[in-house]
Order: sequence, then C-alpha cells, then structure tokens
Amino acid sequence: MIPKSFEEISIIRDLDSRYFGCLDLSDPKNLEIKSVVQKTVTTIQDDIAFYISKNMIVTHELTSKVFDNNSTGNTPPDDKKLHDVENKVIGFFEEETLAKNQFKNALCKLGHLHLLLGEYSEALSAYQKYLRFNRNNYWKNHEFIYGIGIAYFKLRCFKWAIKSFQELLYLNPNFTCANDVHLRLGFMLKHCGEYHIALKHLQLALLYTYPSTFSELHGWMYHCVECLGEKKERESCALTFLQKSIDADPKSGQSLYLLGRCYAGINKVHDAFLAYRNSVEKSEGNADTWCSIGVLYQQQNQPTDALQAYICAVQLDKDHKEAWTNLGILYESCGQLRDAYACYLNATKQASCQKATILRSEDNISMNKDAIGFSKGLSQRIKFLEIQLGQAPLPSITSKRRQLCSIEEAWNLPISLEMNSRQQQTAQMLPRQGPPPPYPHREISESPTPAKRVKDDALNPIYNRSEQDCQDTIQQNKTQYIQFNQNIITTLSTHNLDNVQEGRLISEQSILDSYEYISNDLYTKNTNCKFEPGTILSINNDETSRHLNEDSEYTEFNVSASISDLSQSFKIQMDSKQLLSAVKLLTIEDPPINCTVLQVNTPPPTPPDCPPQKLSRDQLLPPTPSVHLENKKNAFSPQLQEFCLKHPIAVVRGLAGALKLDLGLFSTKTLVEANPDHSVEVRTQVHQSPDENWDTSQAKRVWACISHRSHTTIAKYAQYQASSFQDSLKDENDKGYAGSQIMSDSDSKDSVSNSNITLKRKKHKSSSKMLRFGTNVDLSDERKWKPQLSELQKLPAFARVISAANMLSHVGHVILGMNTVQLYMKVPGSRTPGHQENNNFCSININIGPGDCEWFAVPDAYWGGIHNLCEKNNISYLHGSWWPVLEDLYKENIPVYRFIQKPGDLVWVNAGCVHWVQSVGWCNNIAWNVGPLTARQYSLAIERYEWNKLQAFKSIVPMVHLSWNLARNIKVSDKKLFELIKMCLLQTLKNILHTQEYVKFKGVEIRFNGRGKNDASHYCGQCEVEVFNVLFIKEQEKRHVVHCLSCALKLSPSLQGIVCLEEYRLSELQHVYDSFTLYRTQGLAYTQ
Ligand SMILES: [Zn+2]
Repeated sequence: MIPKSFEEISIIRDLDSRYFGCLDLSDPKNLEIKSVVQKTVTTIQDDIAFYISKNMIVTHELTSKVFDNNSTGNTPPDDKKLHDVENKVIGFFEEETLAKNQFKNALCKLGHLHLLLGEYSEALSAYQKYLRFNRNNYWKNHEFIYGIGIAYFKLRCFKWAIKSFQELLYLNPNFTCANDVHLRLGFMLKHCGEYHIALKHLQLALLYTYPSTFSELHGWMYHCVECLGEKKERESCALTFLQKSIDADPKSGQSLYLLGRCYAGINKVHDAFLAYRNSVEKSEGNADTWCSIGVLYQQQNQPTDALQAYICAVQLDKDHKEAWTNLGILYESCGQLRDAYACYLNATKQASCQKATILRSEDNISMNKDAIGFSKGLSQRIKFLEIQLGQAPLPSITSKRRQLCSIEEAWNLPISLEMNSRQQQTAQMLPRQGPPPPYPHREISESPTPAKRVKDDALNPIYNRSEQDCQDTIQQNKTQYIQFNQNIITTLSTHNLDNVQEGRLISEQSILDSYEYISNDLYTKNTNCKFEPGTILSINNDETSRHLNEDSEYTEFNVSASISDLSQSFKIQMDSKQLLSAVKLLTIEDPPINCTVLQVNTPPPTPPDCPPQKLSRDQLLPPTPSVHLENKKNAFSPQLQEFCLKHPIAVVRGLAGALKLDLGLFSTKTLVEANPDHSVEVRTQVHQSPDENWDTSQAKRVWACISHRSHTTIAKYAQYQASSFQDSLKDENDKGYAGSQIMSDSDSKDSVSNSNITLKRKKHKSSSKMLRFGTNVDLSDERKWKPQLSELQKLPAFARVISAANMLSHVGHVILGMNTVQLYMKVPGSRTPGHQENNNFCSININIGPGDCEWFAVPDAYWGGIHNLCEKNNISYLHGSWWPVLEDLYKENIPVYRFIQKPGDLVWVNAGCVHWVQSVGWCNNIAWNVGPLTARQYSLAIERYEWNKLQAFKSIVPMVHLSWNLARNIKVSDKKLFELIKMCLLQTLKNILHTQEYVKFKGVEIRFNGRGKNDASHYCGQCEVEVFNVLFIKEQEKRHVVHCLSCALKLSPSLQGIVCLEEYRLSELQHVYDSFTLYRTQGLAYTQ
C-alpha cells in the first residue's frame, strides 16, 4: 500500500519530529493526513520486515559461525559472546552501505511517524534501532535527536531525554524547535532538583520573542526555590515573571492565583485578594485558589469568610488536604474541637492516600516528603483532640455559643451571595470527579452517586471509602500542583510552532491544501529535489528507488549533513586566505552552528568509559606518589616537576621547611591582624568520619553531601575556629569515665554486617553535629596581602601563582581562585566535596597547619565512572556536592589514592584528577591553579570546555581567548600541543568569518570596537558561553549585555535592534593564525 498521489508523498517526505506538537493528528481536521501517515507506517514496517528476512539467512550463517568458533559443546553462549555476535551482525550491516542506508532511513522515518501519531513506545523502538545501526553518525541527524528526545520525554525517561536534548542544543543551538527543547529541559531538570540549570534553560526559552506558557512556572520557581537568591530579590523576580505571564495570557487563572500567593507572601493583602478574585473570575476556579483565599481571610481575622472559602475549596476538591487541614486549624482556633477533629480526619485520609499514589507516581518527589511530614503533624493533632474530646462531656462542647457554624451546617448552608455565585460558576466548569464528599452536599441531586452512599459517608466519614477508591480519586484528581505542571506540558506540546514560529505559520488545513507550500517554505532545501511517486517508501527494489533514496537521505540529513561534509575540508594546514575562501562556500542562509574547538567533525562529547583493565584489591588502593624534600636544591630540581607531571596526584613533603617558607603569614592570628573584616564564604556541614557520608536521617550511606552556603568575616570565623578548639579540649577533659564506657560499648559491636552498621549509626545520631567551614577566602588583592603573596615567590616556577610557563598567566586577566590565591579555614571535619578543577587545570595546595588534612583522589581516566555513579545517585556531577562512597568506587573498579597532608606539605593535583578532602584537625590551607604548557593539560582543558558547553555549565577559563593569547605569546615545539592549539584557532577563525558573513547577509553592520589590554574576556549574558571577537550587544535594563549569536537570534531573528561589535581586526587575527607555526628546535616547548 504505497501512497499514490503526489500530494501524499510530499506530505510524508517532509514530516519529521519537528512537526511534533504543531501537527495534531488526533484532531478530526487532520483525519486525512493521519490516514496517510498510518498507511505509510504499515508500508515501512512491511519493508523493514522484508529487509530483515532477506538478511536473515546471512545473519543466521554469521551467527552460527560465531558460535561454532567459540563454543564446541552444548554450553550456552555467555553475555560476552552474545555481544560479539551482535557486533559482528552490525559490522555486517556496516559493509552493506546502500541497503543499510535505506534501512536506517526507513527506521528513522518510522520513528518520526509514530511520534506524530502519539505512539511513543513504537517511536522510541524505531529510533533506538536507528541509533544502533548508526552509532557513529547519528549526531548529524538533528531531527532524529529531537525525535528520540521527545519520545524519551513522553515516556518519562528524563535522564535520557535530558541527554538527547543537551546534545541537540550543543550541536545546533539554532535548531528549529530549540525553544521547546529549552522548555522541556527546564522542566525535567527542575524535576531532578537541578534548579540552577533548570532556571537557565527556562530563561533561555523566555528569550524567544513569542509568548511562552511556561513563564508562570518560571515565576513560581522564583517564589519558592530558595537557592535562587535572596528572598526579597526572588519575590520581586517572581512578581515580574508572573505579571509577564499574565500579560501574555490574561486568561490564565493559574498565573493570577500564583501572583496572589506571591502577594500574600509579602503581606500585600489587598493585591493578593485582587489577584485571587481575578483568578476565580477567569472561570478557572480551583480548590487551591479558594484555599489560599481562606488562608488570607484567616490571617485577617475573618473566620466566617475563611470558613466559606475553605468550604468552597473542599467542595470543589474533596481531597484537598491543605484546605481540610486549614479548616481544622480554623475550627480549633475557635474552640470547635469536634469540627476540627472531623476536618483533620478528612485531611489525613487524603494525605495517606496521597502517599500511596505518590509512591507510584514519579511526578512529584517533593510532594512525597510534604505529604509524610504533613500527616505526621496531623496525626499528633488528631490524637490530642481525641484525648480532649474523650475527656470533655459532649454537651459542654456543643452548648457553648459557637463562633462558626458546624462543618455539616457549613457544607449545606447557602453561602454568601458573592462567593456562592462564583462557586457555582466554577463548580459547573469542573467535571465531577470521584466519589462524593464525606458530608451531605446540597448538590446531591446533581450528583451521579447514589444518595445512600452519601449518607453512609456522613455517618462514617473516614472509614467508608476503600483504599482503592481513595487512590482512584487521587489518581484522577492528582494534586493541583501536578496538574499545573502537566497542563503546561500539554499546552506546550499542543501550541508550539503553530502560533509561534515566525514566518513558518502552518495551519493544518494548509498542509492538506498545498504541498508546495510545505515543501518550498518549510524546508527550502527541498526545492531542488525531484520527487516522483514512490520516492521514500519503496526501500527494497530497483534503480529508481535507489536514486530516489539518495535524495531522501539528503532530506533527512538536511543542513547539518551538508555543513559537516564541507567541514571535512577545513584543515590546520590551511592558511588564513584558504580558510577565508573555504568559508565563502558555506551557507549563509542559516546561522553557523556548533562552534567546537575540538577536531573538525567530531560527535558531541560524552564522559569516557573507565579503563577496562580489572584491578586487584591492592591496585584499587594504590600508594600515593610522594617525595620528601631535604633542601632548596631538591625543590628547584627539574626532576620534581617531572615527578609531579607524571602522576595523577603527588604529595611533596617538607616543602615549607626546605624553602624556609614562613607559614605563619597564613595563620589565623596573622590573617585577623591583617584584614579582620575580609569576607569568608561559609559552608555549614555535618561532621562525619572521613570515609563515610550518611544521609540526614543517618540511616544509609549516600553520595549527596550537605553543604549550605553563607558568609562571614575572617575575624568572626577566627573566633569560631578558636572556640571550636577550646570546646573540644573541654570535651576531652569532661569525657572521663562516661566517655570510655561509650567507647567500649561501640567497640564490642565491631561487626561489619550492614544491619549492624545501620544500628551503630542510629545510636550515634545524637552525636552528629554541624560544623562551619570557611572557604574561598580571596587573597588576590596585592595591597591587602602583600607579605603573604611575596612569600609565595619562594616557590619553584612550576608551582608559582604567576609564571611564564603557566597557561593561566597568559589569560591576561584575573580568574579568582585560579590565577590568584585562595585560603581555606577549617575545623575538624571540614569537607571539600568531590570535584575536578575548573577546566581540568592542575592545582597546588599547601597545608598551613597546625592540623592535618586527609585526601582522596581518583585518576582522571576514571572521571566518567564517577560521573555515572553521581548520575545513579541522582546528583549532578558538575553542579552537585557529593562525597563518594568508597565501596561503590571499588565495585566499579575505580582506584582511590588516600593520604594525609601534614602542615608544610604541598599537594600537586594533576590535570583532571578527581579529588575530595577533609580536615582532620584545625588548619588553614592555601590553593591556586596552574596550567603547565603540555599537550595533556591543554587537551583536557578544551575537552572539559566542550563538555561544560554541553552541560550548560560556565567554563571559567575562556579557552578561546586563552588559545589566541598563547598563539601570540609563546613558541610551541611539542607537535601535539601545537596541533591542538592550531585546531582551536582554525575552528574559531572559521566561526568568526562565517558569523560575519551571516551577519552581513542579514544586513547588519559590524562595528570595530577593539579591546583594552587587560579587558576581561566576554561571556554571553544569557547562556554563559564564551563570546570571542564578534559580540552581539543588546541594551537590557539600561545595561549593555553581550550575547552570543544564538541568543541574539532568539531575541531578534532578524538581528534588528542588536549592535554587532568586533574586538580584533580580521587582519590581526589572520596574522596571528598564520604566524603560529610549530617551533622546530630541540629542547623544551618553552624556554624560560
Ligand atoms: Zn548565548
């Protein structure tokens, strides 16, 4: 059943994942397209089946051959052998290029069509097969990555969806549906608790010039996510965003409701009421709004109005636990304990159901905690009331003049006119959900539920409904919060391009009406394609179809493929003139995509697999490379530097003594005398033993590490450090007899079984105490810290803060804590959680003393393994605070160095080494980064630079800017280092030229701006990528903000209203590029 008509073909050939959300095939209007799509799906499935059966025989032969080679007896093949077979089969397909291409394209198209039909599992299955056969090149097909991302998203495989979307944005930040990708990423990252990156993506999505349904969520995050800044600032941001959201969609009752909550939160009662009232009037009356109105009335001391509002809430949503709870509190405050009791019972019932549902639903983790905490407090209240009610004789409670009518009366009484009309209005809007409320209802007659049931409920409000019943109700209702998120997602997917994509308005009808419109307008690339009936679909026969399939592959791969094919021609052997003419061949209709500084035509970066070599227990605990210095001569010997560069990490013992360094200059006493008011960042942490990390309940070992941030001064921290020391002396003296008893008690239980460990920890729960770690004290100011900084001049060159052989000294400006000194002030147990240094630079760390520090370190080759473990533990490798569980590392075959750093010892952390540190005693440390001029350092730095880009994490070392400075300042004789730097220059120069061509094509003038000698390098004010040479400036809130090209295009697709500046003359860059050649002499890369 091949679609015959020209029209049908053109519809199908153009459909891909980008239509997802704008072409709604469930809409009756699109019935015709839907049937064409369905027909095509069947055809492709048949063709695939045919293809597979054709290859079956070969595959079978191949398979049996593999088994014959490997197993002679009847032994079943093990996993490894199976894997081999799979690889051989895939390898076989690799050879059959033509057939394979047809097969692959069919799989990808099948994925797209299933996706558009809303058949997500089928879509995913087809896409995954496509990926399997296309591991090396899948990343050139951006529509595929988008499609598989959507499929993962819809199937709630968020980790995989995030990965796909991140790759897509990395490869092409200007992708047609980038807005959608940012929104979905924002939503998913928020769900995963990664608020900072979530916010970043939401902000990027907001940049797009068309309105976004997501802005209300954005605003709400400002209101309730603490880590987004100071409360005051957050509140004003929240209000701004919500107001924006309301401007964009004045009918959004949800935004108005949230706005009300924000106003209530900052005590603007009148504004809050207004917003709530508007929200209710937008006919989206929901229980949340009424509940909040109740809270507001209650706070204003208007209990009757509060009662009515709460009743509205629970009548709209009988399972609204907050409303029931608040109502209970209201009654209790008025002394009507029996009513309060009934309300609390209703609330707990809802809470317990919710708990059950939430455990099943992935939707809302934070709700889960809330629900549990909530029901705990409630059950205490209920117990209390039971006792009270049990003790008090019934009449005395009821005979007292009541301030409020009882819950039964309130439920049945007509409520005040204003509320009543609204309530009815809103009640009509809502479909009847679930079983009736636990109290007689005046709308009983309208209710489909039999009256008897209602009566039973009234008699026995709590126990009548079965758990299942309850769960069903909850499942139907879900919490408003969840609905809210869901709504956004649904609106997101149904709106989309249709009403937003500038210049690409496609109404479904017009797709049917005019295939020309689609093929010419949506994919301009297709205009040159000849297409004939049968084009994409006949995968299995003759010459014509082969020819046509080549065409269809062109369609599939689209822009990206053509660009990367051309990119193949860019080589570091080109001079700048050749480069310029090669760039002229690139398309300027589309903006340049993906400016990587790595090799031409490389796939997106991924964390590396761990080295496969299986390590023994001894190898998993390697001895730490260390060297003891006797004298100054040792310290300055080239062997010391060689030794350090050779190992992932090294301890240089006795350095301070050998160099006669005056460590006293960094003692707390001297620091306080020098600059008592200097700022100290403080991390509040739990004191734990160094190789353990327990969750907050002290019940299990975890990776996530508690480390809250605040600020203080050197003088105040010094006071804390000293008093902590004195306290511990006192403790030691006080311990005496009782202390030794505790010791022997825990010693007697020296078993290693897991259950015992847990028990032991629980016993120690009360002893876990918080500590404060003074970190990131900035010692960059030479006027303030002159004696300290000049003392560090005594260090050998390779370890100095500033030296010509240190890449970071070529950045030309300060990067705090990297090419300047930072100080750490510690009490026992202070933790620096696991990390690699910024952009994988090396670091120097000297312990000032008097106490020791304990170090843990893993060679850089294993960082991918640790990254995966972080992912497994739901914690962000780059953004999160984590403390590895050592046993987890050993199980994954990851070796760990472990050693003590004594006062006066220098620790050299080599490029990329993962490490975490805990202080044993009271001590200070000083640290900074260095970048030896080696190929290894440079390549690790740029690899991380690209990985950061993919992860939307800011690289604080501007590698492009640095590379151009290196090219100007140094001569490189190391071939590998030369090639890497030259490649970076090539890629950036190509990107600059391409960008400038594109900008000129858009009719925008580029103005020369130049730059000051020590000007800081630029980062995009929106997405935080480094912006080199071509800056896009837009005035925002009276500030001139630098943007990258992609973000500028989000703000203004035509670049109107954006100023384009140039920092260097093209001739200068060409000169630097051309003059940077391999320095052919014997000896070191750089001679000092
Ligand atoms: Zn940007």
